[in-house]
Amino acid sequence: MISDELFERSKKLMPGGVNSPVRAFGSVGRNPLFIDHAKGAYITDCDGREYIDYVCSWGPMILGHANDRVIAAVKSACDNGLSFGAPTEREAVLAELIKECVPYIEKLRLVNSGTEAVMSAIRAARGYTGRDKIIKFRGCYHGHSDGLLVKAGSGALTQSVPDSAGVPYDYTKNTLVAEYNDRESVKRLFEENKGEIACLIVEPVAANMGVVLPEEGFLRFLRDEATANGAVLIFDEVITGFRLSLGGAAAYYGVTPDLATFGKIVGGGMPLAVYGGKNEIMDMIAPVGAVYQAGTLSGNPIATTAGIETLRILMEEDKRGLYDELNEKGRILAGAYKRALGDSVCVNQVGSLLSVFFTSESVTDYESAITSDTGEYTRYFNHMLERGIYLAPSQFEAMFVSAAHKMEDLDRTVRAIGEFV
Ligand SMILES: *Cc1c(COP(=O)(O)O)cnc(C)c1O
Repeated sequence: MISDELFERSKKLMPGGVNSPVRAFGSVGRNPLFIDHAKGAYITDCDGREYIDYVCSWGPMILGHANDRVIAAVKSACDNGLSFGAPTEREAVLAELIKECVPYIEKLRLVNSGTEAVMSAIRAARGYTGRDKIIKFRGCYHGHSDGLLVKAGSGALTQSVPDSAGVPYDYTKNTLVAEYNDRESVKRLFEENKGEIACLIVEPVAANMGVVLPEEGFLRFLRDEATANGAVLIFDEVITGFRLSLGGAAAYYGVTPDLATFGKIVGGGMPLAVYGGKNEIMDMIAPVGAVYQAGTLSGNPIATTAGIETLRILMEEDKRGLYDELNEKGRILAGAYKRALGDSVCVNQVGSLLSVFFTSESVTDYESAITSDTGEYTRYFNHMLERGIYLAPSQFEAMFVSAAHKMEDLDRTVRAIGEFV
């Protein structure tokens, strides 16, 4: 098979043959598929096999692959040059569209990846508050910057420790780890570190330990705790932004953060991400303020073109009920899992984001997420792949539904789920 040959060749060239670890299919015990092309809801590997795609590039392809309008806009933008290292009108256009969708964003910066957006938002929060410590949640992923690759210290340890080799302890000692949906754990950290917390960062819907929904009132509680403690509340909407609604999870749940980060969808499949929020915090950023952050390719003309076209389409389609439709598709799949697998699984779904956890526990945090039977997930993953359905090669990644998934695609998927018992 061509994919296998390409994998062998790539393994000599890149660690694990890939440029991002999950792509190596390590946790599902088989070689990855090398992709040749994709269109709409379908992705085709180098061996010419076509799959219904529920990875959607890990979120960006909410319109489906190779959307005609986005591709046409990008092609025509290319004729005018790939990068200038100088401001363009397109950056302003994209920023205005983002502000229109997410009204609490007063000012923003364009960067190149979610990792960079989160790292910069945290730096802004630290500059603004003059404090060093931050609180994050176990199981939430915020990119691979040093200070965020932490795990909670075990047992009597209250200090966090690095979750990756190569990260000095000193880089993570200011990152405190709370438990998702556990209000007491947040309260305790604020009390033990009075006046020292710069920011509280959360995925408003956790989607990097599988999909875990915030319990009723949890986000509101975080809003109130942050305010009471003079800390900046950051929503990491890199996945949820423009996915749960045009205004992301903040609009969906009606809770407004001080800063937010966006990625994935906002670049329409190109490397582009955003951090932004309150003027008084964003004005801390150079050249206005003393917090340094820069980027040679930031606001790149091709990436902004893809982002602009994607957001324009989403805004038009929203008027025709796009997000209700996406939600309905998510519900159809969630229902199929429940019918086929019953109490042996926990299905978490909100809008077009969902996860089936192979556990009888209800998954509300990291602890319950890892009760999942990953061996069973692997069997399920391979079963679906054989039936032409491409899922995330890990129990702890979300399933993404796009506007391009048609009823017949869902029907085929539901049948394949039914056959897996
Ligand atoms: C994907 C992701 C990131 C990191 O974005 P990259 O573009 O991969 O650096 C950060 N936060 C969340 C919530 C994500 O899902």
